[in-house]
Amino acid sequence: MTSNLVIRSRELLSQIEGQGLYKRERLINGAQAGRIRVASQTFERELVNLCANNYLGLADHPEVIAAAKRGLDEFGFGMASVRFICGTQTLHRELERTIARYLCKDDAILFAACFDANGGVFEPLLDADDAIISDSLNHASIIDGVRLCKARRYRFANGDMNELEDRLKEADRDGARLKLIATDGVFSMDGYVAKLPAICDLAESYGAVVMVDDCHATGHIGEAGRGTPALTGTSRQVEIVTGTLGKSLGGAMGGFVTASQPIIDLLRQRARPYLFSNSLAPAVAAGSIMAIQIAEGADDRRQLLGAHARRFRSGLERAGFELLAGETPIIPVMLHEARLAQDMAAALDKRGIYVAAFSYPVVPQGTARIRTQMSAALAEKDVDLAVDAFTDAGKALGVI
Ligand SMILES: *Cc1c(COP(=O)(O)O)cnc(C)c1O
Repeated sequence: MTSNLVIRSRELLSQIEGQGLYKRERLINGAQAGRIRVASQTFERELVNLCANNYLGLADHPEVIAAAKRGLDEFGFGMASVRFICGTQTLHRELERTIARYLCKDDAILFAACFDANGGVFEPLLDADDAIISDSLNHASIIDGVRLCKARRYRFANGDMNELEDRLKEADRDGARLKLIATDGVFSMDGYVAKLPAICDLAESYGAVVMVDDCHATGHIGEAGRGTPALTGTSRQVEIVTGTLGKSLGGAMGGFVTASQPIIDLLRQRARPYLFSNSLAPAVAAGSIMAIQIAEGADDRRQLLGAHARRFRSGLERAGFELLAGETPIIPVMLHEARLAQDMAAALDKRGIYVAAFSYPVVPQGTARIRTQMSAALAEKDVDLAVDAFTDAGKALGVI
């Protein structure tokens, strides 16, 4: 007997397929890197990778791997406990202190992922008397975290400071006790940097606090990679930063919140994904400490990343592609139609370039794109190869 649930699941799957939204995973045979080996049914090919969050190229860094191995040898494979029972090793505290020191805060608290950090950060700090004012393009995990919190919710259009001010006034009229403005530091689909100076000024005028999710910035943006608050000179005003160990900082997994001591202490008592979920694996913690140490001193990698981004941008612009403006290593190539974006991704794959096409509902209707991401793991010749492949594929498809 096929259950109703199985029948329903099949229906939904064919709907997803029919809308052209079905995501198929390609298999990588080997480590995450600038060039990856992609397996197909019959053979394996090497592709230039333009879609990893491996901005600094630390995902296969020998020192990170060596540190993770030492962590494994000295601290074992797993913790088999949440932090407060018997899951806190010296290693976990060392990683928390390293993060806090790196991002100039009092302390930090680890989660299994930044998805959990964002899922757990709001509910303990705010209740029904309070207000969260959220940018409309914030990451799904912020949206979910806000849903799990009893605070009133307000939304402003991406980067629209007039609307943000209106929402702050509205929250005041509604009698909000605490007001928290939540924003991504870098909006991942567009590569836009949040207008933190304006956001922090408004926060000050209206007595609100600012929380920044800096997943797409920590490690590679701002002085020493300290992220968008460092880039925009707002480190002192931003009260709470959430981030990931799964992107620039080695790319393994794990998330964190870093803030002043009472906030972290309270989260340790009350944040549900922290209290009720296993500790980070020792190898991940040890490798991440090393990744942060390397990231802090990696001006060479940040310079290379910036140079790649400029080279790739100017190459594509010269070829006639429409790009979204910006200074981050996220470079969206606008194609507008979902089908065209998909065809372009396939054409690039044939030409040795690994990219991902994004369309509705991930981005608004009519703004389908290929989001490319630069990495310090790429060589200059990889970037040139990518520009040539884009140009060739773009001509073949009549895009340019
Ligand atoms: C990637 C990302 C997350 C999720 O981070 P994980 O550690 O992979 O769960 C959260 N917020 C933003 C803005 C992200 O880009």
